[in-house]
Amino acid sequence: MHSTLTAFEGGLSGRQYPPDQLHGVDPEDGRPLLARYDLGAAATTLTAEALAGRPRGLWRWRELLPVRDLRFVTDLGEGDTPLVMVPRLGRHIDVPQLQLKLEGLNPTGSFKARGMAVAVARNRELGASAFIVPSAGNAGGALAAYAAAAGVPATVVMPVDAPGVNKAEAVTCGADLVLVRGLISDCGQLARRIAGDTGAFNLATLAEPYRVEGKKTMGLELAEQSGWRLPDVVVYPTGGGTGLIGMWKAFAELEAIGLIGPRRPRLVTVQADGCAPIVRAFARGERFAEPWHNAVTTASGLRVPSALGDFLILDALRESGGTAIAVSEGDIDRARREAGRLGAGYVSPETAAALAGAAELRTTGWIGHDEDVVVFDTGVGHKYPAPQLPDLRVVDV
Ligand SMILES: *Cc1c(COP(=O)(O)O)cnc(C)c1O
Repeated sequence: MHSTLTAFEGGLSGRQYPPDQLHGVDPEDGRPLLARYDLGAAATTLTAEALAGRPRGLWRWRELLPVRDLRFVTDLGEGDTPLVMVPRLGRHIDVPQLQLKLEGLNPTGSFKARGMAVAVARNRELGASAFIVPSAGNAGGALAAYAAAAGVPATVVMPVDAPGVNKAEAVTCGADLVLVRGLISDCGQLARRIAGDTGAFNLATLAEPYRVEGKKTMGLELAEQSGWRLPDVVVYPTGGGTGLIGMWKAFAELEAIGLIGPRRPRLVTVQADGCAPIVRAFARGERFAEPWHNAVTTASGLRVPSALGDFLILDALRESGGTAIAVSEGDIDRARREAGRLGAGYVSPETAAALAGAAELRTTGWIGHDEDVVVFDTGVGHKYPAPQLPDLRVVDV
């Protein structure tokens, strides 16, 4: 009942690397490394029955996770988020089988907790004793929380215009916060420099192989929660694409250990039209995405002009028969209000983008009326600046 990690493989180069040393990107090409497991061994203990009997949370999947010594795990309650029907919203967009996976219920209010929980634990196990991350917002808060739980220092490098709550979260959880007049890509450069100077381990998206393993658990849970029969369509608001890449990997691993068959959901990337590098590359039939210039969107998690795992996202979209679409800021605002009024709660702009994308794909007929559609509700709305409100009535008493 422990990790069956055996090796790392270059996502592009296919080269193999040993499992038990600190890894960044593939030294061959600077692209992401992916963890490989002994899936035959995993299958002997990771059965549906065994899973059901374990304590809730993402560590239930330990055969398919990289941490060998569970003493390095700091469990803040990550994982096992609910998958819920939202019938009023579903009927409104004519997708009656619409479900949301409520990732905002993770610690720190977003699914970034999954990736950071696993990355901090495993890299500490391999000797890292300080961490740094460039973040559009939620990754920084998640790192701060898990580093604090582990009792190790963390530095967060964030654009100066990131949501105030994300800054407060990082600082309150004891991280050293560096603000940059620039985009997440500028933060990434600075973080690499600071990591080089200080020896802090860099947890930038897909620049080390473990955040994707943490986020992979969304795909594992989705399969289990759907009775081992995956939905028809999965809609994912995509920034760096860690979750989408992770879920695609999770489905392959589950099939190899015999828990699901070959059927896969069609994966959908939704981005904002002010920053849509993956959508553009998908439409052009390209395997790599050119960096997006002047990226702007209120959905801060989607403001990623250039993704290290672009080809992994694009391969997964195409292999699954999926697609990629961009929505406007107006669509995001409208979808956010609609989601709230129709029972999906106070969702984040990223979730609203995904919902707007799902509605658009139903309008064009790409999503059928009777299909099972899961939209990833990636973070809570409460962490973003309050939207413009209409004139409100104030009563003197
Ligand atoms: C980071 C983030 C995203 C994008 O996730 P990726 O897996 O990096 O593409 C979407 N929504 C929210 C709320 C985020 O914090």
